[in-house]
Amino acid sequence: MTSWFRTFKQTASPQAIYNFLHALPKGGDLHHHLTGSAFSEWWWELATDTHLNGGYTYYTRTHLTLCDGLETDAYSPQSPFLLFRTIQASTYNALPDCQKAGYTALSRLSESQKTSFLNSLRLDKAGEGRDVFFQQHWQRLNELTANPYLTGQLLVKNMQAYAEENVSYLETQVNVHHMVKPDGNAFSADEALSILRQAINSEEGKATGVTVKFQYAILRFLPNAEETLRQVYQFVDSHRDSYVGINFVGREDNDKGHPLRFLPVLRELRHAYPKIPLAIHAGEVDEPNQHVRNTLLLGADRIGHGINTITDPDTLLLMRNGPYLIEINLISNLLLEYVDNYQQHPFGEYLRLGIPVALSTDDRGMWDSTLTDEFYIAVTQFNLSWEELRMLAENAIAYSFLPTQEKQQHLAALKNKLDAFEALAPNASFDGPMPELHRFICRFDKPLCGKNKASN
Ligand SMILES: [Zn+2]
Repeated sequence: MTSWFRTFKQTASPQAIYNFLHALPKGGDLHHHLTGSAFSEWWWELATDTHLNGGYTYYTRTHLTLCDGLETDAYSPQSPFLLFRTIQASTYNALPDCQKAGYTALSRLSESQKTSFLNSLRLDKAGEGRDVFFQQHWQRLNELTANPYLTGQLLVKNMQAYAEENVSYLETQVNVHHMVKPDGNAFSADEALSILRQAINSEEGKATGVTVKFQYAILRFLPNAEETLRQVYQFVDSHRDSYVGINFVGREDNDKGHPLRFLPVLRELRHAYPKIPLAIHAGEVDEPNQHVRNTLLLGADRIGHGINTITDPDTLLLMRNGPYLIEINLISNLLLEYVDNYQQHPFGEYLRLGIPVALSTDDRGMWDSTLTDEFYIAVTQFNLSWEELRMLAENAIAYSFLPTQEKQQHLAALKNKLDAFEALAPNASFDGPMPELHRFICRFDKPLCGKNKASN
């Protein structure tokens, strides 16, 4: 297989390489934000279908009015002039008439407004990058992310998409506090979680064969993040069948959320509860610092991104052949401008120094991309060998937070699938029709899409 794959890479068309990677059993996706994973079209479909979304009606801001500067609602006080900010009917109904005039029911948008709404939720234009992503996309989604029925449907759509991509495990970051009913009243966290579980255990969900576990995400720079962490720790401890870990999220160039801030509270919590695994975003910044080292000190078993580990030799040495995995998100790092091109990306260095790594998608809905795209970029930009590819797939299960016995079962099943793939691939043809290609990969690799019309 080793020499066959080397020859295949050198001689196959881009389309055949893509088909090969689509068919490859890829293990799992360990770094995945559920609401960031939804393609614009999914948001549109679910937000406008009251049967699928639990009976909610949504309005989105299509016009600025002179009243917008007066807006004081708690959801987005910092974005009074943001177009395509979406609210649910109960919020809309409580607005003064002059503010209502800026909103249109999602289901009544004109074609051009709909196109703009869809584009407003993805990074698809030159000049859109980190600031648009952190300061506009989430603020636009706004109350769409507070509907547990819609969130459950996003889970099912992800499970179906991953089954298509030959991915068997998803460890997704999803929160269940502060979910809101159609009338504006709050769900309890337990109510919201049970709605998500129903979605996973629905006929459609089960038919995918994809296993899903959750991580709880703490927004790290908020003034009350320690108190939130205490509540979440208790919640995760008592829902370990669904929640397998905790993550810290939020832009790291906001120093209010620096890692060592959380050392005292984590020590307090570790004293009080059995271990809860931590996967923490760290090193997703432009400048050198010791945040990855400090995050290991917090007790993290996995590091999200870890881009600047390359600038910290002691930590790099600590991680070589070690037990801590770096979750690599190649497309995210390019679109959010942490690298200008893949020559600058440390993934190859980590991989070949023996630092455990796995490929993941981060917020692929907003990139409009897939896990296969991440593998395609890894192979074509870093010239991966078959052994390296296989290790990436296996790491995505071996370093998951699945309970031990379940992990062994998943790993054994994956090894069997990889063995079978390895036996069949050299005699198979990968020149057949391609899966639906998303926008990012078609922009990035035009020859790949030359023979295929890009989706939407
Ligand atoms: Zn992330």
